[in-house]
Order: sequence, then structure tokens, then C-alpha cells
Amino acid sequence: MSSSVSFSLAAGQPGSGSQGPQRPSMHPRQISSSSFANAFDAARTKLNELGVQEPEVDEDDTDDMLSPSSSSASDSDDDSPFSPSEGSSNGEYSAPASPISAPITPAVDPDVADNFAFAFDIDGVLVRGGRPIPEAIEAMKALNGENDFGIKVPYIFLTNGGGKFETERCRDLSQQLEIEVSPGQFICGHTPMRQFANRYGTVLIVGGEGETCRKVAEGYGFRDVITPGDIIKANAHTAPFRRLTDTEQGNCRDLLEGGKKKLSDIVVEAVFVFADSRDWASDLQIILDVAQSKGGRLETRSETFTEGPPIYFSHNDVLWSAAHEHVRLGMGALRRIVETVFEDTSGGRKLKTHAFGKPQVSTFEFATRLLQQWRATQHGLTEANPPRTVYFVGDTPESDIRGTNAMNEKCKDTEWYSILVKTGVYQPGTEPKYKPRKLVDTVLDAVNHGIRREMAKLGSKKSTGGRMLPLDDAALKAIAEGRTPNFELLEDPFNYV
Ligand SMILES: [Mg+2]
Repeated sequence: MSSSVSFSLAAGQPGSGSQGPQRPSMHPRQISSSSFANAFDAARTKLNELGVQEPEVDEDDTDDMLSPSSSSASDSDDDSPFSPSEGSSNGEYSAPASPISAPITPAVDPDVADNFAFAFDIDGVLVRGGRPIPEAIEAMKALNGENDFGIKVPYIFLTNGGGKFETERCRDLSQQLEIEVSPGQFICGHTPMRQFANRYGTVLIVGGEGETCRKVAEGYGFRDVITPGDIIKANAHTAPFRRLTDTEQGNCRDLLEGGKKKLSDIVVEAVFVFADSRDWASDLQIILDVAQSKGGRLETRSETFTEGPPIYFSHNDVLWSAAHEHVRLGMGALRRIVETVFEDTSGGRKLKTHAFGKPQVSTFEFATRLLQQWRATQHGLTEANPPRTVYFVGDTPESDIRGTNAMNEKCKDTEWYSILVKTGVYQPGTEPKYKPRKLVDTVLDAVNHGIRREMAKLGSKKSTGGRMLPLDDAALKAIAEGRTPNFELLEDPFNYV
């Protein structure tokens, strides 16, 4: 860790639990409103020794905060799918319920920070082209206690990517980051789509490798899943230039049931683009066919082009950061093509599709509930007290930063603090369209910045007359050495503090 501060804490020595997952501690619960404050008793003592008065700590909590009932967030139990009619004109939705089942609250982990947390985008921040960004491994260690303050910080992952079971993606991420990542701290692009499983009968699932997305959709509870491959198998003329492989022929469903049915007997009630298309031409053709059909009935054509079923994309990223030196086209590009070509081939009639994922605020609200449950189940923190600050680390201004800033504007209880890294989509030296609160080189810098900023709050509150100021290395060093930082010199690369 590059911080110039070096406090020695009694609780949670640096290095403890660094390789493992975030696990609940077996320590009995401490009597305090803030386990974070407990963990920092030694730090505050040190600050006092250095002449910096400690901030006031609220000590008036009760054990009720940790009762099982306190973790049964009523809104988290709402598994009713939201209807298309609930969508706003721009395709946004109210947040669906969290996918995580009712938590069992463990004892409070005394080493855990209870007033701040982190959330991470994955591609371009932690992983690029299937390989971990080197600093990401160090960043995870820092969150798990290997930092100058010996604290553990709760964190979740929020990616627009998908195409695999959440459990599978977590397994991959665990190997890449050398930690244990749980589905309880992970949201991918199609995770919120599970809320629709009981709403629709036959659905067209698009994207991903082979049969994976069909299986994911069926795992979510969708009852009748068809894919573009199934339709091509039934009528090869659907996509003139696409030939199914033998494997695909074997895997795809026989929609005609041996000649007993016709494609026109099938009515698609909704289209879900779960993951990036592996064959844009045929997927585009089939999505448009359904969009221009009579009520989703295959092989029909609406005269008014107003009868198609709803179409949902798991996110709207036009670009993403892959192994290539330049960014690659993502699902948002396909969405734009679908809407544009629909208009071009429907006499100018517009097609309104819907997108989940970042930057939709509903996705951040979904993440908020997941984070609350994760903090409760893993660290024993009460869901009634949300973190005061969530640091979101991303590489894409248009989704990560835009969404975080929008969530920050909407959220009353929690500050959502956007941090942009230079290891992905954002091109260093350019002015991002959506401005982060902080620009850093890597995710490790982002984690260090957040932790130091929180520590600085403890030291700066009295020193600044109650105002909270983010401190840089020099300011922290000044505090550690017993000097008064020059707050006038503090600055941010974009002057957004
Ligand atoms: Mg990214």
C-alpha cells in the first residue's frame, strides 16, 4: 500500500485474512453503535496522541439493531416482477427485488468498516481480456484487511457483463482475484431479468455461448425458452448465411416437434438479450422478425409494426474493454442497430426497447439492497443502518460514472462516490463526458483513496470545524506526524470533491 500513513492497530492486523473471503468473524458482538469505531479505537488514540482530537461517536445503539427481524428487509422480499407498464418512457424500471434469500445475521465483525463500502465494475477495472489487472489482486487484499489500518471493507461487484450463471462467473472471478467471490455479492447484467420468469410464457433468449443462456434463463425459472438457433433449426431460410454446426443442431430444440407443429404456432411473449451476441447478423434478423410480428407469433408480419412483444437488453454499453488495445462493440451497439433498422424497415415507426444494467438508477438501487444483505450476512451489520458512503469504481464514464452520480443525486441516506480508473474504456488525457469525483490510475489507487478518505474524516472533523474533507497523502502524513494539514492545498484532478 502506498499510503504514507502507518498506524498500528490492535484490531485486525494487516495481513489477517488477506487471502480469504470476507467472512463473518467469530468475535462476540461489541457494545457500540459502530464496529467501525471499535476497530479504530487504537487509531483514534494515536490521532489524539498526535494532537488531533477524535470525532464524536454515537454510542446509543441497542442490540435490537442486530435482531433477526432487523435484517428481513421487507422490500427485499418482494419477488413480484415489474410490468412493462411500470417502465418509464426511457425504458427504465423501478428496482427489482434482490436475488438473495433472507439472510442469517452473524455476530458483528469488529474489524469491519460499517460506514463505508465499495462496489466495483469488473471489465476494465479488475479484469481485462480474461486476465486480472495486477493491481486488482492487491486491491482485494487491501479490502480484506491488508491495509495500513487493518480494517476490512465490505464490497460487491456490479457488472453489465453476463452470459454465465452467477455462480460460474463468481468462480472465475475468485480464481482471477485470488479471493472467494460469492453470488451474494455479485450482480451481472441479466441478474434482474429473473424477476420476469413468472410473467412470460414463451421467451426468446439471445446471446452468449452455446446453450448457456438458455440454461441460465431456465435456472431463473423461465418455463419455455427458445433461442435463435431453435428457429434457424426449424427454418434454415430464417438466416440465409448462417449454418448451424452439428453440435448446435444436436443441442437446439425441435420447435416443430417432429412435424406436429409449425413455427407460426409459437408466440414469443418477450425477447431478452442476456449476453453479447455471437452472431450479430442472424440475431439481428430474428429479433427484428419478432419485433415486426403480429403479437410475437413467429413467421408473421404486422401491418402496423406496433404489435411486437417487449424487448429487453441486459445493459446498454456501446463499448467495453476487452483484450484488444482498442475498445470493442458491446450490447448497446446491437440495441441501437435493432432500433435503427426497425425504423428503417417499418416506414419510420420507432421501436422502444428496454435496457437494464448501469447507468440505470434502478440497477444501483438493486445493488444497494444486495450490499445491505451482504453486509448483514457476512459482517453482521444491521440493514437498518446503510453505509454513509459507497465508493463505486468503474472504467466507463457513460455507464459507471453516470450511474453512480445519478444514484448519488437520488439517494438521501448514502453518498455514492464515483471513481474512474484508467485501465479500461476511459482514455487518459481526455475529458470524460460524465465527471467522476476522483480520477485514479488503477483500482488499487481507488481503494486506497476511499480508505484514506474515510480515515481522514476521523481525523479532520474537528480540525476543520466539523467539515468533512478528503485528504491527500500529504494531509494524511501531516495528521500522522501531528501537524495540521493545509486544507487549502487539497485538490482533485477534476476539482470534484
Ligand atoms: Mg467496465
